[in-house]
Amino acid sequence: MIRKFISRVLGRKGARQSDAPAIIAVAQHGLQREHISRGCRRTVETLQENGYQAYIVGGAVRDLLAGLTPKDFDVATSATPEQVRHCFRRARIIGRRFQIVHVNMGAETIEVTTFRGHHGEQGGNKAQTDEQGRVLRDNVFGSQAEDAARRDFTVNALYYDPTAETIVDYHHGVADLRQKTLRMIGDPRTRYREDPVRMLRAVRLAAKLSLSIDPEARRPIREMGGLIENVPPSRLFDEMLKLLTSGHAVRCVTQLREEGLHHGLLPLLDVILDQALGERFVMLALESTDRRVREGKPISPGFLFATLLWHEVLAKWEPLKARGEPAIPSLFLAMDEVLDVQAEKLAITRRIAGDIKDIWALQPRFEQRSGKRAYGVLQQPRFRAGYDFLLLRVESGEVDQAVGDWWTAFLNGSDENRAAMLLPQAPGEVKKRRRRRRTPAATGPDPDLAQ
Ligand code: ATP
Ligand code: MG
Repeated sequence: MIRKFISRVLGRKGARQSDAPAIIAVAQHGLQREHISRGCRRTVETLQENGYQAYIVGGAVRDLLAGLTPKDFDVATSATPEQVRHCFRRARIIGRRFQIVHVNMGAETIEVTTFRGHHGEQGGNKAQTDEQGRVLRDNVFGSQAEDAARRDFTVNALYYDPTAETIVDYHHGVADLRQKTLRMIGDPRTRYREDPVRMLRAVRLAAKLSLSIDPEARRPIREMGGLIENVPPSRLFDEMLKLLTSGHAVRCVTQLREEGLHHGLLPLLDVILDQALGERFVMLALESTDRRVREGKPISPGFLFATLLWHEVLAKWEPLKARGEPAIPSLFLAMDEVLDVQAEKLAITRRIAGDIKDIWALQPRFEQRSGKRAYGVLQQPRFRAGYDFLLLRVESGEVDQAVGDWWTAFLNGSDENRAAMLLPQAPGEVKKRRRRRRTPAATGPDPDLAQ
């Protein structure tokens, strides 16, 4: 018993390249070949028939063992990208930094990656890093053992061979998954320094798979979280998007806060979690996103980020309105300010920023329930997203229930019913507008637009 424990500990600590992996048979791992997509199986078989090693690797093996449906299937092989390309009729090499091959099998695209080599003392070819130790370039081919060692967590370094129905496990990943532990391969501090995004991945994968992060991997996160600042914004945006659309966003965000990862590092999360008013709204938005993901419905990143940042916009917009500034121009001012701050950290793409603005800009227009204006709102291209957003504002208590109910009835009503629903134009509506233009500081917010 003790010897077994010691050998287990040593085996893990001293995971050297020469260590023989465990070859786990189907009777032990229970993963069924039928759960692998046909295209992926075919890809692996073709590579093997051509004399190369080929395995399904990473998230797909992990998810299947955990009883989840994988998002996609990745293949790792001993063949170089050129060699892979020659094995298939429809395959193309993509990527510059590290080439991978996209193999098309019917409607499926399988990503095939050549085993990557080890960087560090033993590999001889030290990877290029920045001053903090973040790996900038790391594009050497290597053996399967090296490929396994450079993956992040033990549960992500499992290689499934659908032909032999075995799992090749260099780092006790199958056991860790059974014990519900997310364990880093190698020294966690070194691995976080090489790539700080691994801290976010730890939180996301733990939430997704209901794993607990091994204390050795968990402890350094609090003190090393600052390194995330060095990560390029586009990468951070991708990772945040993955986290928020994982179907477990509520759990992820809660755990990020527990790990102290939200503070000062990700302005977005600072915003989300540090304002009591906004927290309810954001949590409702994340709950509804999680629900949609789990039901297999599409979600729009624009909608998601619009919800996350809305209370920040309100915080800037309300004082402007209270000072008597015109409502719509000051809303646009507030929107731009908020998005500019985010742009420094998260590279929100222009298209998504456009979607976010459309949704926000519709909000004051939902107050307009008279005459042609209401019909105009219905015809906006982003009406549906704006309306869903309004309903969240209602649910969080920010907007009167009556406003949400009115729009639901208007949206679903017949032409006649709609016409009957229109509110009369408030008598002071036009006059007040004029008055406000003459003496801007003397009046309150536009009654049309007041919340
Ligand atoms: P999911 O697809 O559910 O988001 P995943 O683990 O498959 O999770 P991918 O980004 O698809 O994540 O990565 C595929 C595999 O590549 C991982 O399982 C892991 O083995 C390896 N990997 C990904 N990112 C890193 C990283 N930052 N450091 C080391 N290995 C990584
Ligand atoms: Mg994956």
